[in-house]
Formats: sequence, C-alpha cells, structure tokens
Amino acid sequence: MKLFMAALLTETNTFAPMPTGHAGFHGDSYRRRDASLEPPAWGNIPLIAWRRLAGEAGLTVIESLTANAQPSGTTIRGVYEELRDTILADLAAAGPVEIVLLNLHGAMVAEGYDDCESDLVARARGIVGPDTIIGVELDLHCHLDERLAENANLVITYKEYPHIDMTERAEELFALALRAARGEIRPVMATRRMRMINMWHTPVEPMKSLIAEMQAEERSGKILSLSFAHGFPWGDVPHVGAVMLAIADADAAHAQNAADRWASRIWDLREETRKRFDTPDQAIDAALAGEGLTVIAETSDNAGGGAPSDCTAMLAAMLRRGVTDAAIGVFWDPIAVQFCRDAGLGARFPLRLGGKCGPMSGDPLDLVVTVHALADSHIQTALSGGVRDFGPSAWIEAPSGRGSIHIIIGSDRNQVFNPDAFTGLGCMLADKRMVVVKSSQHFYAAFAPIAARVRYCAAEAGILRDFAAIPYVNFREPYWPKVEDPFA
Ligand SMILES: [Zn+2]
Repeated sequence: MKLFMAALLTETNTFAPMPTGHAGFHGDSYRRRDASLEPPAWGNIPLIAWRRLAGEAGLTVIESLTANAQPSGTTIRGVYEELRDTILADLAAAGPVEIVLLNLHGAMVAEGYDDCESDLVARARGIVGPDTIIGVELDLHCHLDERLAENANLVITYKEYPHIDMTERAEELFALALRAARGEIRPVMATRRMRMINMWHTPVEPMKSLIAEMQAEERSGKILSLSFAHGFPWGDVPHVGAVMLAIADADAAHAQNAADRWASRIWDLREETRKRFDTPDQAIDAALAGEGLTVIAETSDNAGGGAPSDCTAMLAAMLRRGVTDAAIGVFWDPIAVQFCRDAGLGARFPLRLGGKCGPMSGDPLDLVVTVHALADSHIQTALSGGVRDFGPSAWIEAPSGRGSIHIIIGSDRNQVFNPDAFTGLGCMLADKRMVVVKSSQHFYAAFAPIAARVRYCAAEAGILRDFAAIPYVNFREPYWPKVEDPFA
C-alpha cells in the first residue's frame, strides 16, 4: 500500500498590507521530498508522524512538497499555482496510491482562488480517481468549505488553540485513513455552518471541558471524528466563519446529527465565550495594579494572524504612561536591526522603530536606545516541538518614565511563542513587571506558567479585533456578533 503526502500552508489575512509571494514559501521550511526527515518546524510536524506510522504499518511513503509561509496578505496567483502544480505533478508521477494525506492550513487565499485548499484537493481527486482515500489535516483557523468535503474522504482540524495537538490530530487522521483504505470503515462527513465570528481559547473553560467531551465521544466509538473549525476572521471570503464537522462510519444522517448537535452546543456558549479585549491602557492598568508578572498579548499585531508586527501602538502607550520594568517584542523591523548591528553592542543612539508597513503599523517611534545583544539568528521554541527563527535580531533598551523598557526586534516576521524569544537574547523576564508579546494565543502554553495574570489587548492599529466591525465585502451572510441571531 502506498501513501502520498505533502504540506502547503499559509493563513491569508486579506486585509494585510504585505503580499504573500515566492520568498514567503521558499524559506528554510521549503523542502522537496524530505521535510519529514528534518527536525520538527511547523509544516512538517504531521508529516513526521505520518512517515513514522507508515513505517510501522508497512506502507511505502512518497513524499512531495512542504512549504509554509508566514501569514500575510493574499498570495500571488502564480506562486500558489506553482506550489500546487508541484504537488500535483509529484502525485501524478507517483502512479496509483491508496492514501493521500495533506497538511494544509485551510485559510489560504490567492488571487483568483478564494479557497486554495478546495482547489488543490479537487485537482488531486481528479488525478487519483474515486477510490483513493484523501485525508486532510487543517488548522482550526480555516474556512472549512463544503467544496473540500466533497473531494476529501477525511478532514480533521486541530482541537487546541494554542495549537499543541498537531501530532495527535495527524495520528488520528492516519489511523482513520488506513482503516478506510483497508475497507474497515466507510467515512462520511457532514458540516454545519454556524455563522459565528469569534476566537475560542481552548486551555480555559468552557472550551476546555467541551473539547474533552468531544474527545470522549470520539473514544466511545459513536463517531469517528469531530472537528470544530473556529474559522479565521480576517479572510474576506464568502465562506468565512465557524463550522462544525463530524465524520461517521457509513451513516450520513448520524454525521449530520453530530455536527448539528455540537454546533448548537457551541452556539449556546456564545455569551460565555464572547471575546473582549483590553485597550492598551486597560491592560497597562491591570499590570500596574497587580503583583508579579503580567503577560499582555498584543493580539492586534500578531504576525501569526497576518499583522505586520511592527505596530507601535502598545509601546507608544507604555512610553506615554512611563511604564518601567517592562519588555515588549518581537518587533519585525529589519532596518532597525541593521542600524543596531551598524551601531554595535553597547552603543547608545537614536533609532526610529516600527510603523513602516502601512496604516496597521501605527506611527514610527523615535527612541534613544542602548544595544544589549545582537544575534545573526534568534531561534525560539514554537508549538508541537517546533522552532521559529527571528533571523538577525537585537535586544535594545529605551528610557521610559524613571526607568526603561526592553525591546526585542527581529528581521524575520514571527509571532512570540515562548519566553526564549526574550531570554534567548539575554533579556530576563523574572525581574519584569509586564511583558508584552505580539501574539494572539500561541504564547499562552509557555508563558502561563511564569505569569501572575494574562491580559488580551487590542490597539486601534493592527488587526481589527471588533469582530462586528470587520469590513467584509465578499462575506455577506449575517453573523454573530454583528447580529444577535444570524438565523432569524
Ligand atoms: Zn491557527
């Protein structure tokens, strides 16, 4: 039995000012045929699991492309088509295969393609024919579309946000695909569109218990798989929003019933799970009022959601308030890093920081900074055993009030996952009162253990966090929280 596998991932923020182009996909993560033999990074994590499991099951593995781009704006058409056609050419060259497993994001938009994943899977189906099992693993921040379910046999999304379960979901997908290829099960999928735009954090209640209940139902054997696709709010496509998906064994009505039942469970929790964000001043107030370290997520400037990560709004508020004993990062500002490198270790000089990419970035800040550390490569621990490199980076300090604020700046755009995004350059957090991380939620797993409290903040610049006010043009359905009852 032969397994064909590939990975193509990006999360497209159609409101972001930066294009997603060739260079975005052709960085260190770009691998042809051997990504699963590399250490875990991000896109290859499921493929590592699939290769291991295929070996145990005696399957022949044919590996194609792994490419993932940091979330940015709409992908350039020719760039997507070249990546897609590389995978499809490898699939055609592989000859008959029993199983195709694809690690995709699910919210990739390219010029002319509002649903790249459905396009790719439909073309893959055209090559392999009706009998091959096609399984797809998606980020839960996907635009799960019925078009995908038409051509895939199995779709599984991550259950956890932060995404700490990529490997577990890959293992489940492999197991179901193998059973299906052996004729032991006949998976049927059903979806329920929920007309909800929100962000759901799974380490906390009520989502924590809800996820546990879903998994209990899966273990009971009553259903093969349940996926709650949260959706990605900043993709202006007709099918944006949360979707519940269920996979049953040969029983479409049972799958639909499960999808409907879980969708209505989540709908009923809408007030409890409605995301509200601090203003920068509210977050600073909370940090100043409390003992111990406050971790503030600057969610509106999360590179992982397609924000530039050079927004100055939060740092400007901290400076205005004279905040001290604080750290913030990681700013994406390769020019500022270069100036720090030119100035050298220990130098004190005027530096213009951030505010470069567009209106989402706010205004640049003119600071007088001291350079405490420089590095050619600054690697942080990411999720599910992966790592991310900020590239050439600097740790600088700027006066604020009667003290100072410590700032990390990098050359490669990444969100913050782990305290080593700071400590890796020598910027300690134990002596700080607040640390601001440019991240939405993926920081949480590693920062919660050192935080006395965690606050989620949204500045007026950056990614719009008022879900009711996102200026959709292509998404026309009524949705909560813009209207109280989108099905009325
Ligand atoms: Zn995600």
